[in-house]
Amino acid sequence: MAFQGATKVWKDGRIIPWADATLHVSSHGLNYGTGVFEGIRCYATDHGPAIFRLDAHVERFFRSAGVYEMDLPYTRAEITDACREVVRANGLGDCYIRPIAYLGSGSLSVFAKDCPVEVAIFAWAWGAYLGAGLHGGSKVLLSKWRKFDSGMMPTWAKACGQYINSALAVREALKQGCDEAILLDQHGNLAEGSGENLFLVKQDKIITNGEDAAILPGITLASVLEIAQDLGLATEVRTMRPEEIFESEEVFFTGTAAEVTPVTELDHKPLSGGQPGAVTLRLQKVFLEAVRGKNAKYAGWLTAV
Ligand code: PMP
Repeated sequence: MAFQGATKVWKDGRIIPWADATLHVSSHGLNYGTGVFEGIRCYATDHGPAIFRLDAHVERFFRSAGVYEMDLPYTRAEITDACREVVRANGLGDCYIRPIAYLGSGSLSVFAKDCPVEVAIFAWAWGAYLGAGLHGGSKVLLSKWRKFDSGMMPTWAKACGQYINSALAVREALKQGCDEAILLDQHGNLAEGSGENLFLVKQDKIITNGEDAAILPGITLASVLEIAQDLGLATEVRTMRPEEIFESEEVFFTGTAAEVTPVTELDHKPLSGGQPGAVTLRLQKVFLEAVRGKNAKYAGWLTAV
């Protein structure tokens, strides 16, 4: 079973069997990618399953929908409760939650006036996104595909069709024996991974790029920056040049799925001696404690299921 532990789906306000959560081939969202989604992790903690930064994810879900002028027929509180409900209904602990809203069937004109906005939330037990890379380091390809510019598509929105760009890049990376791709932006600066934000550790400074870069502003990125500052580490948010990857002591990814994953190889050449760096591992340790409710300072980031 590809979606381990998934037996129930929240769809348009009701919990239904997984097998019944289907859509019609004429759906606008399928034909043109007109949908928005979120990726959220829930963790088993000593106090039961807890969802990491649920409010921030629900906020971004509504922000993405707003950009595409999709009126979600639910409130933020209803979506928040539905995320918790779907974890409970499936009896899951550690899991990944996927809220999605898309234009359903009604018309295939691109301007789509008559398509209903359908909303679903499903969840399943998903392990480390980059597998053993989480602890051992991931191998990355600098993609020949560029990340689209914010003047082409709203980079700050998490929209279905926008991921065609990521799919091209990651497919190329896998074909070349790598685990993940890094994309440059239109100007040749570093953008991000196909599904992660990118950090450099250079002269003991934690560096990443900001909303003005062609990135999805990550909730994990913001959390890791906060953790770094709490640890007294210097941080800098600025444009990053591709050559800086090789000039840095350490490189790592952040993302809901990837969590904090060291990058130890670029284009088949070792980075930081081919081993996860000490600063990366320090940030990763605090992050993984925070998500599991083992660090009281970050207890406010967790919502009990
Ligand atoms: N960039 C892209 C393109 C992504 O898909 C993701 C995953 N949502 C991220 C960055 C990281 O964002 P977050 O930390 O909010 O998951």
